Amino acid sequence: MRRLLCALLAALTLISLTACSAPAAGDPPEEADPPQDAAPEEADPPQDAAPEEEIPPEPEPYAILDPTVMPEGGVRDGVTYAAYDGIVEHLFFHPVVAYPELAFDGDAQANGIDDYMVTADEYRKILQSVYDRGFVLVDIADVWSEVTGEDGQPHMVRNTLYLPEGKKPLILSFDDTNYYEYMLANGFAWKLIIGEDGKIASYGKDPQGQEVISRDEDAIPILDKFVEEHPDFSPFGAKGCLSLTGYEGILGYRTQTDTRSWTDAQEAERQKEIEAVKPIIAELKRTGWTFGSHTWGHIRLGTKSLESIQADTQRWLDEVGSLVGPTAILFYPHGERPDGNDWQNTGPVFRYLQSQGFRVFCSVGINSFSYIKNDICAVICDRLHPDGTTLRGSEKVLGWYSQFYDAREIIDLTVRPQREVRWMT
Ligand SMILES: [Zn+2]
Repeated sequence: MRRLLCALLAALTLISLTACSAPAAGDPPEEADPPQDAAPEEADPPQDAAPEEEIPPEPEPYAILDPTVMPEGGVRDGVTYAAYDGIVEHLFFHPVVAYPELAFDGDAQANGIDDYMVTADEYRKILQSVYDRGFVLVDIADVWSEVTGEDGQPHMVRNTLYLPEGKKPLILSFDDTNYYEYMLANGFAWKLIIGEDGKIASYGKDPQGQEVISRDEDAIPILDKFVEEHPDFSPFGAKGCLSLTGYEGILGYRTQTDTRSWTDAQEAERQKEIEAVKPIIAELKRTGWTFGSHTWGHIRLGTKSLESIQADTQRWLDEVGSLVGPTAILFYPHGERPDGNDWQNTGPVFRYLQSQGFRVFCSVGINSFSYIKNDICAVICDRLHPDGTTLRGSEKVLGWYSQFYDAREIIDLTVRPQREVRWMT
């Protein structure tokens, strides 16, 4: 049964969709790709789904490698923890829109933001809905672990999760939490800061140009606040994994270099930004947030040369990894898989990225597909994407998300651009 399920999921994931293509202006050349407009249901059907026998079952039995990460089964503090070996759902978001009137003002970015983002209010409704439906947050790093097999070779295993009885695990990730320059005038938070209460907040400006420090305008403090109000949503303290590029710094701090020109004054400014972001990183880590790579330049891993990917990866490690620490998580820009965008391929780019410490490789899809590779120590997985494209999707698309929320109750058509809503037609 598991083999069949694997094959089915594998086939489904080939119906690849919109990728993580946060619109960006004035970025490196590879960023210039316009947001793809293809709606999920328009994607080509799988042409080359693997025969069932080519999909090996996941290793069994599952191993619990670090019992301190997840509690064992049994009753603790009045809560019964039960083993869970099912699918771990995974949703990802881009930064959320704090001020729809700035985001959806009809400028060149408006439709891209409509496609790939949700508003802060929509995001709050999604959190409430997944909470109401019995999901609890888990850390992506706790779902799979690396072990050494009997043959002496390392490989990944899926851990058994012990969850409060009846609950379902959910990973959240947040792409491009860099607060790019183009976002500043488009209704997003400008940066994360530590507020007067010592908690992570966002800093930005409202449509009148007034400075605003808030915990209600950005996905990260909104989730922090939600967990404070609903602590059982995060039984192990997990929040989400922040997927960072490097070309405009991280978390709203301009920590990047520029190879075209670099002066002592620029470097001094950069060092100031580095010192300013350090306490933000430390507080995020302390409160359950983790970090992954989204490549330095938001590059296409399916088509770029190995040499340029090596240079990009080194730059990410130098400028971002040096600040956030080691990570085993890589989120593909545009959802594009290495070596020609074929998930079954373990080509030179994939092998190189794995050699740099990455073990969990995340794309984008129509379900939370995951697959432990058997020819290299790595796991690949897909994430669903609550955003305008899927909130506006057909009945079929709404069905993919129906276990999390009813898109018709989430989407705020009073603030979004007047564009097609497929489930209405
Ligand atoms: Zn992205």
